[in-house]
Parts: sequence; structure tokens; C-alpha cells
Amino acid sequence: EACLTAIDGADALGAFVHKTPEIAMERAKAADARLQGREEAPAMCGIPVGIKDLFCTKGVASQAASRILEGFRPEYESTVSQNLADAGAVMLGKLNMDEFAMGSSNETSVYGNAVNPWRAGNSDAGLTPGGSSGGSASAVAADLCLAATGTDTGGSIRQPAAFTGITGIKPTYGRCSRWGIVAFASSLDQAGPMTKDVRDAAIMLQAMCSHDPKDSTSADLPVPDFEAALTGDIKGKTIGIPREYRMDGMPDEIETLWAQGTEMLRDAGAKIVDISLPHTKYALPAYYVIAPAEASSNLARYDGVRYGRRAALSQGDGITEMYEKTRAEGFGAEVQRRVMIGTYVLSAGFYDAYYNRARKVRTLIKKDFEDVFAQGVDAILTPATPSAAFELGKTFDDPVQMYLNDVFTVTVNLAGLPGISVPAGLDAQGLPLGLQLIGRPWEEGDLLNTAYALE
Ligand code: GLN
Repeated sequence: EACLTAIDGADALGAFVHKTPEIAMERAKAADARLQGREEAPAMCGIPVGIKDLFCTKGVASQAASRILEGFRPEYESTVSQNLADAGAVMLGKLNMDEFAMGSSNETSVYGNAVNPWRAGNSDAGLTPGGSSGGSASAVAADLCLAATGTDTGGSIRQPAAFTGITGIKPTYGRCSRWGIVAFASSLDQAGPMTKDVRDAAIMLQAMCSHDPKDSTSADLPVPDFEAALTGDIKGKTIGIPREYRMDGMPDEIETLWAQGTEMLRDAGAKIVDISLPHTKYALPAYYVIAPAEASSNLARYDGVRYGRRAALSQGDGITEMYEKTRAEGFGAEVQRRVMIGTYVLSAGFYDAYYNRARKVRTLIKKDFEDVFAQGVDAILTPATPSAAFELGKTFDDPVQMYLNDVFTVTVNLAGLPGISVPAGLDAQGLPLGLQLIGRPWEEGDLLNTAYALE
């Protein structure tokens, strides 16, 4: 009830886009009953959470922040949100995001952007909460819920977590089922928790993961006890500092926090080594070929027939006009840009020059990580973002500038690795900054424990 009241008082943040108070109260009562029964209720039992609008929730609007999914009420529940519900988590509503998770500022949302609860110094300029999981980040940072789900295709959990001073982990590709999550770029998309701290992240990730035969890329591996991994002991671990992440023009404050984070890990007994990930500079261009290519294919299903909205037609319009009008008015500008880029790089004349080239680069990036892990590196420490949260409206008209936000995060998705962003401190304007740790595949427990040492 306290969360529902807080949500009603925080409409100006634009975080919750569909509220589900009846579902919340019903699940809260069920959780109470279960906790009173006291047979081993999972740690998530009774915990109020928000769900990103990208997750299909049965009977509840699930719009991926797009006009084209207006009116869509899924007949089914995503595996991840079902797992949370089964663990007793209480859904409060659906959270704002960039349209189809394409963006880094939450500004491509059909609902209008969510706002960052933080302010720079004395300024009252509205700041982005980051994207695409901007509503999730804003809601957790503003205490509207205890935790939220996010999804991360190129940084959409880690960048908003960094911008709002919370914790967000993208698990290894295949750890969380993608079933029932609206697809953006299927070989990169992963769900993960956005929480106040590392322990909450461990608990919530545990509840979200499962092997799911409905997702062919879901890993058939036991889900370890992530919370039990939080011993705080990282003695003897080797942490790599990749020289390619030291970018020209990066604010000094980020350099300083990165160095402080390195010292904290060293003080905790880790061995710090300089490493090289030589193909890093090709990651962003490769990502912005692969992600739009997969998106253009995934979004072909929005044809005005199967889901959501269909445009009003004129006398004599045929099926082609129906597709064209529906997609022209249903998709926003960024989504249309991605569909066009994706279609172009997959077209017969350009497939080898762009799409195949990007896939080869992806293999090299993955190999860079495999090489350093083979040399004994346990985790890699980098900044999470090249800047703190920026002003809403400032970057929106410059897509390439917007894409540069993802420079530290996309490598992790291309390589399928787990990555976590933890709050690292504040910049001179008092805005939060995050540090990113990248771990070995399937070793989220170890990664969370290293992040715990940074808290
Ligand atoms: N900002 C990136 C993009 O626009 C990543 C988004 C995401 O991770 N969903 O593609």
C-alpha cells in the first residue's frame, strides 16, 4: 500500500505507465498468507516490484512503449515475470522504457519519457534516467518499488542503473528465458534485475532465472544460490583493467572513480592486472549493424493483423496500404530508423559488407574476452557509462551521439557475458556514476560477490 501511494504521488516521474493496484493487493494478500503459513517462502515473497513494459503480462497492457501495440493485452505471461510471481513477488504495474527498448534516454517512449529523480546541483533541468529501462531505474531510485525488471540488449539495464545510482545486472545470455519478452535483437536480449544493492540483485536474479524449454537459447543449467555467493571475500581474484576503455575526452571524474574502484578491489585482496581487449573499438559499429538487423526481422510481425493497432484505411486500400499505414503511424522515428538500417544491412547487395562483417567482428570481440579469461582474469572493471545522466531533450536529435552512450556496455552483449553496474560515487554536480564489472560466462555468483566488495 505504501508503494501504491508513492506511485500515485509520483506521476511527474513518468515511471509507471500502467498501474495494477488490484493485482498488487491480491498478490500481497496471497504473499501474506504464504508467509504466515511459513513453509520456506522464497526471499522474493511479498516484495513489491515493477515490471518493464517489454514483458508480456497476462491480461495487462504490454506495449513495449510503442503505439503499434496499443490495446494489446497478452494471453500469456513471460517466463521471467511468471517466475517472479511464483516466488511471491507483488507486481505494482508496468514501467516506462524506450520504444521496443531502442534508445539510451527513455525519450523514444510513446508515453513520453520517464524522469531521473536526481538533479544536477541546484539546476531544475530534467535529467534522463537513461534507457531503455528508464522507468525501472527511476522507479527504484525514487523508492516507488523495491526492485524492477529490466532488459539489456546493449546496456539498457546497466546504463540507467548507473544514471540513477542503483544496481543492475545483465546475466549471461541464456540465463533468463526470453519467452514472452517482446523481442528486439534476439541474440543479444537478456532480462535482469534492477535493485537498490547487490544483495537484492542476487536474490531477485535467483527468482528470475530458470531453464525454459519455450526459449531454445535458455540454458539447461542449475541456477546457483547467488545470495550464498556473497561472502565478501575476493582475496586472490584477478581483476583486469582494459586499456581500450580509457577513452579520449572521458571526464576526469570517471577516471578518478575508476581508479578508486580499482584500489578498493586491491585493498580487498584482489590482484589487479592491465589487460587488452584489442577489438573494443569495433564493438559499437558492429552492435549498430547486428541489433538493427535482428530488430528489422523481429519487428516484421507488427503488420496490423496479429497484434495491437491497425491504421484506419481508405476505400480501395489493399493489404500493402494496410501494412504501410499501420507501420508508418505505429512505429516512432527511432524504430523506423532501426528497421531501415537493418533491412539495408541484410539486403542482398550489402549483406557481406555489413552484416557478415559485423558478425565476424563479434566473434573477435568474444575471443578478446576468452583470451583474458584464459590468462586467469576473473573479472574486468570498467566505467559503466562515458558520462553522468544528461539533460532530457539535449541529445535526442542526434542519434549517433545517443549511440555513443553504449560504448562500454555493448561488448558484453556481443560476447554474451554477464555484466553488472554498481554505484561508484558522485560527480562534481552531485550526480551518480557507475562502475561496470564483467564476469566469466555462468559465473554470476562470483561477479555479484566482486561487485559486493565494491559496495
Ligand atoms: N541503447 C542501446 C540501443 O539503443 C541499447 C538498448 C538496450 O539495451 N535495449 O540499442
